[in-house]
Formats: sequence, structure tokens, C-alpha cells
Amino acid sequence: MKLIDGKALANTIKDEIAVEVAELKEKGGKTPHLAAVLIGDDPASAVYVRNKVRACEKVGFKSTLVRKDADTTEEEVLKIVEGLNNDPDIDGFIVQLPLPKHIDEEKVNLAIDPKKDVDGFHPMNVGRMALGLPSYLPATPFGIMQMLDRYEIETSGKHCVVIGRSNIVGTPMSILLSRKAKVGNCTVTLTHSRTKNLKAETLRADIIIAAIGRPDYLTADMVKEGVVIIDVGINRVDDASRKRGYRLVGDADFEGVAPKSSFITPVPGGVGPMTITSLLMNTLKSSRKEIYG
Ligand code: NAD
Repeated sequence: MKLIDGKALANTIKDEIAVEVAELKEKGGKTPHLAAVLIGDDPASAVYVRNKVRACEKVGFKSTLVRKDADTTEEEVLKIVEGLNNDPDIDGFIVQLPLPKHIDEEKVNLAIDPKKDVDGFHPMNVGRMALGLPSYLPATPFGIMQMLDRYEIETSGKHCVVIGRSNIVGTPMSILLSRKAKVGNCTVTLTHSRTKNLKAETLRADIIIAAIGRPDYLTADMVKEGVVIIDVGINRVDDASRKRGYRLVGDADFEGVAPKSSFITPVPGGVGPMTITSLLMNTLKSSRKEIYG
């Protein structure tokens, strides 16, 4: 069994980005600039955004945080988006979700210029991804593709079972892995809450991407020897022995499945750390005008 160390890989990629940014600056090029919009006072969102801003600083990007109160109107948010769309110094921006209930997330997403949509959530980017055209890939799937690539995990001709069909993880993962590409060429089965006999599917899998949100759901009896397990789930379970009263576990029962797997991502320290790296990579692509010219 080999552990896929997402934390170490994310740091390696951040170092690579930092070198590129330093070279860019030396040549007199423009410093990549990422903006984040945070509406309201959701503590988890505040932490995510703070981490994104810190990561920008670490690699030498410029970052801008637009922070507004929870009672900000939809119209005001759309104005902020328009301002960022039209600001030539901003290469990319994200609007941290969830937004307060009175704001239509779909409307805000559609208002973002696809050229600056470094979260890869706009239908233009999702459509381009589905067609195999250059696009900003959503952060979590992009991070997983990086892991498979850098750990040289063979995907061509393999049977991959994706568990969970969310728009941000399961569905894009199923599209990316079935594409004709270096990391791709899998035969993909996309499973979800209505799938009958999930175990029969997972037992046939060479690669399993678990994105369900249920602690320890994937157990040893559900996987075959040599399987590759990418565990996306982040679940809190009570743990009185921890100072904060809980610990984080994935969707796979790590102790049970790890001995049967050839590669596995831990939780925490696996897929999670790669997410911010993906955002930085998308911003760098935008500043280099790689996707839309
Ligand atoms: P979601 O919560 O939107 O949806 C869960 C999916 O699981 C649904 O498609 C549902 O059909 C499927 N599902 C539920 N019960 C099932 C069952 N019994 N059998 C098969 N499928 C079942 O999904 P999400 O937003 O992709 O999140 C999934 C998990 O991944 C969560 O724990 C979330 O916290 C985590 N997550 C982690 C990262 C990261 O960076 N590591 C990023 C995004 C999400």
C-alpha cells in the first residue's frame, strides 16, 4: 500500500508555482491576481477564504478579499461581480459558497465572466470540460487528476467507480476520467444514492473515487485487492479524546481498506490540501491567458 500524500504534493506544486511567478516578475510581467468574495459570517467559509488568500501570498500572487455583511443584497453582489469582471488587474476570482439564502447562487455564478471563473463552476467551463476543450477545471477534480498524474497511477483501460454525483466532485470526475487524455481513458461507472447493489460495482473497480459524505462507508469487503482509493469525503465524528471533541474521517474505512489497496489518500492530508493548489493553478493559467487566449 502506498499513501498518496496530498499535503506534500500540494506544497511541491505551490513551490513550482512560486518559482514561475518569481520568473514572471523578473521579466517584468504582471503579477497574477486572485480575488475572493466573501458574503456573510459563516465561520467555515471565512476559514476557507483565509486559507486561499494565504496560499496566494505564499506563491507571490496578489490577492484581494472583498468581504461584505450577510445582509448584502443580490444586486450588490452582482455589482461586485461586474466590477471584478471588468477590472483588468484581476486574473480570476471566486465567490465563496454558500451565499446567504436571499441571494440566488445560480444567478451569481452565471454573472461571472467565464474567462475569470477560476472555480470552474460556470456552465461555459463545465461545457468546455465535457467537450475536452481547454477550461478551468473545478478545484477538487483538478486536484485528484494532479494526484493520479504525479503518482503515475495508470488509468488507461481501468475500470473506475465514482461514488457520488455532485456537480463539484462526482460528475466532473466521471467526465474527466472517461476523456481521451493522459489521465483518463477509464471505463467509468458513476454511482449514487439510487444505485442498486453498490458493492457489486465497487468490487469490480480498479479505481474508486468516494465522494459521498458518510463516515467509513466504503469497507474492506467492498473492494478488491490492489484497488486505488481516492477518498474525497470529509466527515466529523465525535472523539472525546481530542481537544476539539471530534476528528475528521473520510468516506472509506481507512484501517479496513488500506491493506487491500495499492494507493490510497488519507483523510485529512489527502484530497483536501490539493483543492487550493488547483485554484492557484487556474489563476496562473488565466494570467498566462492559456485557456481563452
Ligand atoms: P454531496 O454532499 O453534494 O452529495 C453526496 C453524493 O453522494 C450524492 O450524489 C448522493 O447521490 C451520493 N450518495 C449519498 N448516499 C449514497 C449512498 N448510500 N450510496 C451511494 N451514493 C450515495 O457531495 P459532495 O459535495 O461531492 O461532497 C461529498 C463529500 O466530499 C463530503 O464529505 C464533502 O465534505 C467532501 N468534499 C471534500 C472536498 C475536499 O476538498 N476534500 C471537496 C468537496 C467535497
